[in-house]
Amino acid sequence: MMELQEYSYRFDELEVSTAIIEKFMGYEPGHAPEPIPQLIEEVFAVAHDYCDIKGGYVMQDDIRIDRSERTLRINNTYFEIKKIISNQLRKMDNIALFACTAGPRIGAYSKELMHEGDLVKGYIADVVGSEIVESAMDKIQDDLEQKMEARGLHITDRYSPGYCGWSVGEQHKLFSFFPNDFCGITLTDSSLMEPIKSVSGVIGIGPNVRRKGYVCNMCDMVNCIYREKRHTKRADRC
Ligand code: SF4
Repeated sequence: MMELQEYSYRFDELEVSTAIIEKFMGYEPGHAPEPIPQLIEEVFAVAHDYCDIKGGYVMQDDIRIDRSERTLRINNTYFEIKKIISNQLRKMDNIALFACTAGPRIGAYSKELMHEGDLVKGYIADVVGSEIVESAMDKIQDDLEQKMEARGLHITDRYSPGYCGWSVGEQHKLFSFFPNDFCGITLTDSSLMEPIKSVSGVIGIGPNVRRKGYVCNMCDMVNCIYREKRHTKRADRC
């Protein structure tokens, strides 16, 4: 089985709010001092023009988790996904490999603002870009969940190279499962995604898996940007 689904979104279809951006910046939602809320609104006002939001997934069913080796095999490709992810995916029967991007312009806009010396607004544009791609991926994951529930199946949380012990160096293997130029995302020699505001990874599928939340208490990646926010769905966060 190889099912491919592709999506595109407008900025105003996503759940990116001032409160979410304030929280990501370390403020109590609704309590960031001026000019932060004003600058967030200014970035939101132009975000539509700076976004090209695309994403999707490919499903595969020739898969196997080796829990002692902490590896994942998809067809003939092996991934060293390590302990946290192999535990969370161990009961899956199918897997969705996903990628999603906000497009190249929001990152370029942020850099341009910083280059001009507008560091705070540039940082806000950077945070907005990150939240756009996470919010779009939330929508894709929710749609996948609905489709699978209609078949009597469930899904896991999503896991990405570079997090939860999985090396970002395995990104090239992950992208080998996508059609060429999938969502306009390319990889650098060091396995980073271009556009920079992009995410990729895997989601487990099956009758015996669930979205349980991340097990960050088992992880020593203290500065992970997802440590706090991945525990709850974003709509519940603010
Ligand atoms: S802190 Fe949590 S989300 Fe981040 S890498 Fe560790 S387990 Fe994964």
